[in-house]
Amino acid sequence: DLIIKMDPEMDSQLKIGFIGAGNMAFGIAKGILSGNVLPVNVKVSAPSSKNLGRFQELGISVTHSNVEVVCGSDVVFVAVKPHLVPLVLNEISQHVTDRHIIVSVAAGVTLSTVEELLPENSVAIRLMPNLPCLVQEGALLFARGSYAKQEDGALLRSLLHRCGLVEEGPEAWIDIHTGLSGSGVAFVYLFAEALAEGAVKMGMPSALAHSIASQTVLGAGRLLRDSGKHPAQLRSEVCTPGGTTIYGLHTLEQGGVRAATMSAVESATERARELG
Ligand code: NAD
Repeated sequence: DLIIKMDPEMDSQLKIGFIGAGNMAFGIAKGILSGNVLPVNVKVSAPSSKNLGRFQELGISVTHSNVEVVCGSDVVFVAVKPHLVPLVLNEISQHVTDRHIIVSVAAGVTLSTVEELLPENSVAIRLMPNLPCLVQEGALLFARGSYAKQEDGALLRSLLHRCGLVEEGPEAWIDIHTGLSGSGVAFVYLFAEALAEGAVKMGMPSALAHSIASQTVLGAGRLLRDSGKHPAQLRSEVCTPGGTTIYGLHTLEQGGVRAATMSAVESATERARELG
């Protein structure tokens, strides 16, 4: 296994750029700034000033010029909508050098597409984050392009470690990650909503039911992650023989929740493949 050396000096001298000033760029920027990168070393570009204000509030400098971001950065996150990626890469391509690591977060845009639009031998990485990056609890998976070395991956991990869990895998896993974690966030929300509605049905006020449901999802998630236990083990620890939980679990199994959830990840993954 690769041992990641966190080198504060290395991160603090790096210049980081974002092309696109949307939610994803903001989530990643916030995570990066809570690591060792200073706001003066970060720059973001977008055509309109509309989305740039919240970056300025973090002390990040802003511009309308994508080329300016590339020329002033070592690591460039391309965080525009997928259909705009070719346009942006064509625009910046002649300014990309061997100093740069180009990180695309665009869903469905393959590494070979990115590499074809950049100069030969460019270092490209495809990163798939998810929305909880906004609260530094994201789940991020990246795949290295043909010319990205292990050190480039290690550098990216070090930069992103405050965004949440950061893992590396082959590009084929990116679509699976999209189904599991990108879309999976919405599956968990659906479950949280249903939990609360169950409580409302039984007579609890809605606001209280929703706040308890969200805390339940958060607490279950943290315990699962922090204990490192298999979910089945934690589940069995909650099940007193003949108690409430096993009755409820039986009802969920009768409803096919397990199979439905597996199929949801499958269909979201297949849809990601279709879009790619
Ligand atoms: P968004 O619409 O919030 O942001 C896009 C930004 O790009 C806007 O600030 C817009 O002004 C800017 N932009 C438009 N044209 C531009 C141009 N020519 N040059 C520079 N900037 C330009 O979108 P988002 O949700 O932040 O998503 C950005 C990317 O992240 C997408 O490719 C998406 O697939 C990917 N992604 C998003 C999520 C998510 O949960 N939001 C998850 C994984 C991946």
